[in-house]
Amino acid sequence: MDFSWREEDELLRDTVRRYATERLAPDYARWETEPFPRERVVELGHLGVLGMLIPPEYGGSGGRYVSFGVAAEEISRADFNVMSFLQLAGITSGLLALGSDDVKKEWLPGVASGDAVVAFALTEPGVGSDAAKLVTTARRDNGDLILSGEKASCTFAGLADACVVFARTGGPGAAGISMVLVPLDRPGVTRQVYDSVGGKLAQRGSLFFDDVRVPAANQLGAEGAGFVGAMKGFDFNRSIIALGCVGTALQSLDETIAYARERTTFGKPLAKHEGVAFPIAEHLALLHATRLVAYEALARADAGLPHTTEAAMAKWLAPKQAAEAIHSCLLFHGWSGYGNDLPFAQRHRDIIGFEIGDGTAEIMKAIIAREAFGREYAAYK
Ligand SMILES: Cc1cc2nc3c(=O)[nH]c(=O)nc-3n(C[C@H](O)[C@H](O)[C@H](O)COP(=O)(O)OP(=O)(O)OC[C@H]3O[C@@H](n4cnc5c(N)ncnc54)[C@H](O)[C@@H]3O)c2cc1C
Repeated sequence: MDFSWREEDELLRDTVRRYATERLAPDYARWETEPFPRERVVELGHLGVLGMLIPPEYGGSGGRYVSFGVAAEEISRADFNVMSFLQLAGITSGLLALGSDDVKKEWLPGVASGDAVVAFALTEPGVGSDAAKLVTTARRDNGDLILSGEKASCTFAGLADACVVFARTGGPGAAGISMVLVPLDRPGVTRQVYDSVGGKLAQRGSLFFDDVRVPAANQLGAEGAGFVGAMKGFDFNRSIIALGCVGTALQSLDETIAYARERTTFGKPLAKHEGVAFPIAEHLALLHATRLVAYEALARADAGLPHTTEAAMAKWLAPKQAAEAIHSCLLFHGWSGYGNDLPFAQRHRDIIGFEIGDGTAEIMKAIIAREAFGREYAAYK
């Protein structure tokens, strides 16, 4: 199948790379200790990368998934964590689009412009991979929904304005789960930000809902359709995350190739030692293959074709290959690579989060196997 870039994608790559190199890369380490300013999220909105999947009537550009992947890859070359604003805008805008006209009018333009950050809350303290067993509830009361429970490990828990919450409105299992948009300034909402190993910009944490009341019209999609909605969103989003990981790793390899041309040991540049050049060649080959399967998944999504397998392959391979490549880059820089003046250690810590986030390697392999063998052979449905 043809999933080559269009001219518009080349232009987008150049524009986003320029912004990311000038504006994001110099401050990558800064957001380890300082909160990412909200004006910067609005800048991303102006750049046009948050509303790429939002229809023009709601302030977006209604673009293609492939183009969204190009933007994610380029942003991640400069700051992997900023990419999360794209992936969250992408996944939540698709879910908000299932909401009422009022919900769409109120929230989609803000997501596109960067004025509103919407989080995604599926995981709970007791369930992650096995999310269909979630226990947070949303019960009906006089035209409202009342939410109770704790959502764990939410990206942007500390800074989001609203959240798509997956809650039980019916019986057990996936069919009893619905999606509800909850503005996070509602009485009864509290937040706890974790001390994460990496990805500190994302202020990952728990959201607590203590009898939080929202209008029933904030339900997104049909009652009981929440789990299916989440799974549909995951497919393309996994490729976006994969391209983010690939972008960060390719940037690390570019920097390491430049260094290996200059740095000499035993009378010749590192680049002329096969012990250095061959591992770099291997990382380039494996990342290239990973990148292609991620773009293939997105091209299939654009063509309206199934892409669950390709997205799971990309999401399994990308963080693993990227973490291994970045680890090599750190080591090939010797003592200086182990310092925080260079970005390799931070990149490594940041990427590892997505060996877990949005589905672990084991779950990706379970999905690939389920699609290959047939659902009747799946270890779980
Ligand atoms: C950086 C980051 C960002 C995240 N952002 C979000 C977010 O925005 N919103 C959100 O809702 N969640 C988010 N999460 C949570 C994430 O989706 C879950 O952590 C993930 O789905 C795994 O769930 P768990 O941590 O509960 O692990 P568990 O499901 O308890 O699994 C523990 C381990 O057992 C393995 N395992 C589980 N079942 C099987 C099996 N059947 N076969 C083989 N191995 C198995 C897993 O692969 C894992 O290694 C994020 C997590 C991270 C780290």
